[in-house]
Amino acid sequence: MNVSNETMEAPLGEIDPEIEKLIGDEFNRQRTHIELIASENFVPRAIMEAQGSILTNKYAEGYPHKKYYGGCEFVEQIEEIAIERAKSLFGAEHANVQPHAGTTANQAVYFAVMNPGDTMLAMKLDQGGHLSHGHPLNFTGKIYKVASYGVDRDTETIDYDEVARIARESRPKVIVAGASAYPRTIDFGRFRKIADETGALLMTDMAHIAGLVAGGAHENPTPHSHFVTSTTQKSLRGPRGAFVLCTKEYAADIDRTVFPGVQGGPLLQAIAAKATCFKLAGEPEFGEYARQVVKNAAEMARALQGYGFRLVSGGTDNHLMLVDLRPKNITGKVAERVLEEAGITSNKNAIPFDPEKPAVTSGLRLGTAAVTSRGMKENEMREIARAIDEVLSKPADESVIRAVRVRMADLSSSFPLYKSIKE
Ligand SMILES: *Cc1c(COP(=O)(O)O)cnc(C)c1O
Repeated sequence: MNVSNETMEAPLGEIDPEIEKLIGDEFNRQRTHIELIASENFVPRAIMEAQGSILTNKYAEGYPHKKYYGGCEFVEQIEEIAIERAKSLFGAEHANVQPHAGTTANQAVYFAVMNPGDTMLAMKLDQGGHLSHGHPLNFTGKIYKVASYGVDRDTETIDYDEVARIARESRPKVIVAGASAYPRTIDFGRFRKIADETGALLMTDMAHIAGLVAGGAHENPTPHSHFVTSTTQKSLRGPRGAFVLCTKEYAADIDRTVFPGVQGGPLLQAIAAKATCFKLAGEPEFGEYARQVVKNAAEMARALQGYGFRLVSGGTDNHLMLVDLRPKNITGKVAERVLEEAGITSNKNAIPFDPEKPAVTSGLRLGTAAVTSRGMKENEMREIARAIDEVLSKPADESVIRAVRVRMADLSSSFPLYKSIKE
């Protein structure tokens, strides 16, 4: 059966009003809530245009100039531009921009250098690591032997001597640096030294901090690492997707494990959006954004500490902080729920040595990338911190929640999101 011209040309609202309405509802939620989920951001309109483009129609298995399909002369230029921009942004010898997600990027590196049963060493999941760093339910936990390092009980920061000791003992093929909930800078040079001393390869997963790295607000792991993996949708403020950087030596292995190893055809629409993301991330304005993300996190941390909250490791160097809620006698699960009711979106998160179950937790993870993209600065961080304190001090008080929700909606409307896009 032919698809009628009418179907081909009709807008979403005519074809599928149910979905269109829900997109509108979600747009409204994004506009009116204070977004503090540390892995989220708001992308420029240009990124969404690229990602919502006709590129979705194209198959282009393989790499530029070695594509397995006809008609690739334009899309391969897009991919080449994305590759060149990624290399120049992070100072890498090689880039693969095809991974659909951060987990897949990590998978490509693991498959390139490990065999089933080999050992990898990564950060403990309940102390900041990511699922793809060895969680028992993730493929990493099923295929590899997983050794792990955590943070020191007193300082709550990575104890590099301890990492070195565990590496000497477990002899991993790959050491993973990088985390999803670690508020401090990571010493990549130290990690590389440990890797070299123990005959391991260093993979840095910079998913969370890629935007800070691109903007010069965090040390760049690329010169220290054999492999760097990252998502593009977090602090880097790009589309949902990922990439791998590596030295020339591993270029062919990485390309082979991404395709045909773990993926089929690339998402050209996402690759175009990644190219635009890398372009924007190389501009001076992005450096200002990155520095402001860090300043905003520091200010929010200071303000929360002023209200008696305890922060894991005593503060933050990057875009996120982990709040230990135990002094306030509230769990992460309840805090996340009441803050959401008050118009502040965040996520519960295990703190190191958390006595609560993972579904409950004693902590809250807060990040400042998204609010910074909206244009908020230190004053707004203090206002949000005050709101968080009010809600979490009286989590059962509906009138407090209602009053804060109104204030947060007002605050949101002073920093309009996507003025040029209709609901
Ligand atoms: C977010 C994240 C990933 C991957 O995320 P996907 O959801 O698979 O894109 C990988 N590593 C770290 C450290 C992350 O924070």
